[in-house]
Amino acid sequence: MAIDRHEDIPAHVAVIGAGTMGAGIAQVFAAAGSRVSWIDADGDALEAGRGRIAKSLAKLVEKGRLEQDDADSALGLLEPATDLKAAQGADLAIEAVTEDEAVKKGIFAALDGLIADGGLITSNTSSIPIQRLAEATGRPGSVIGMHFMNPVPLMALVEVVEADGTDADTTARVVAIAEALGKTPVVVADAPGFVANRVLMPMINEAVRALDEGVAGADGIDTVMKLGMAHPMGPLALADLIGLDVCVAIMDVLEQGFGGAYAPSPLLRTKVEAGELGRKTGKGFYDYA
Ligand code: NAD
Repeated sequence: MAIDRHEDIPAHVAVIGAGTMGAGIAQVFAAAGSRVSWIDADGDALEAGRGRIAKSLAKLVEKGRLEQDDADSALGLLEPATDLKAAQGADLAIEAVTEDEAVKKGIFAALDGLIADGGLITSNTSSIPIQRLAEATGRPGSVIGMHFMNPVPLMALVEVVEADGTDADTTARVVAIAEALGKTPVVVADAPGFVANRVLMPMINEAVRALDEGVAGADGIDTVMKLGMAHPMGPLALADLIGLDVCVAIMDVLEQGFGGAYAPSPLLRTKVEAGELGRKTGKGFYDYA
C-alpha cells in the first residue's frame, strides 16, 4: 500500500550523498512518501547506506513506530544512482556530500540545470555559508540551508539557514516540509557555524585539547560532561558519531569567521590524517570494531 504523503512533502526529492547524513535524509523522505532519487558518486556508499536504512526501518517497526507495509514502501521509493542527472525534474534537492565548498558548488551549479522550475535547492552543510552556494546557481532565492541532525530519523531539530538572498517563500516552504516530516524547524541566519555548531563544536574541540594535554582520559572527559552537565553523550563520543573530518571542517570555518582561538585541536587533525574518523572508519577516540 502506498504511503499517505502529506501535501507539503514534495513528490520527488533528490538527495545527494549516501554517507552518515544522506542516508538518514533519504530515509525520512522515503518514509514520508517521496520518490527519492538518491545519488552518490560512490556506488558502494549507496549499497552500504541502503543496508543502514533497512536496519533503521526494521528497528522503527520493532518499536511500533512504523508499519511493516510502510517500511517496505519506503525502501521501494529509494532510487539509488551514481549520476547527478537522476535529479532531473526533482521538486526539492538536498545536498549532503562531503563538507567541501568547491565540491558542493559544483553540485549546486549542476542541480540548477536539472531540478524542476520552481524547485528548491538546499544543503545540509554544517558550516559552509549558504549564500556562497546560492551564488553558484541562477536561482539564489530558491536556495536555503536544511541542516538535519545526526541520526536524522531520531533527531527532531532542523536548522533552516536563511541566506541574504533567500526568498521568504522558500523559507516558508522548507519550514512546512520540515514540520510535515515531524521535525521542529528553527530559522537561523547564515553566520559561521549557524547556531548548532557555533555552540557545540568549540566544546568538542576543547574536550580534544583537554585529552591531548592529559587533563583526563576520553572516558573521564565524557563522564564529566554526561554526569556533570546531563548531556546524553560525552563530547568525544559525539565527535566520533559526527565524524572527525566533519569536526575539523567545521572548526576551520569557525576559525575563519571568529579567529585563532577556534583553530582545530592538533590532535583532531592528526587523527583525521591517520584516517581515524570515528564510527564510520571503526576508530576515533574509541574503537568500534
Ligand atoms: P560522509 O563522509 O559520511 O558522506 C559523504 C558522502 O558524500 C560520501 O558517501 C561520498 O561518497 C559522497 N560524495 C562526495 N563527493 C561527492 C560528489 N561530488 N558527488 C556525489 N557524492 C559525493 O559525510 P556526512 O557526515 O554524511 O556529511 C555530509 C554533510 O552533512 C556535510 O556537509 C556535513 O557537514 C553535514 N552534516 C554532518 C553531520 C554529522 O553528524 N556527520 C551532521 C549535520 C550535518
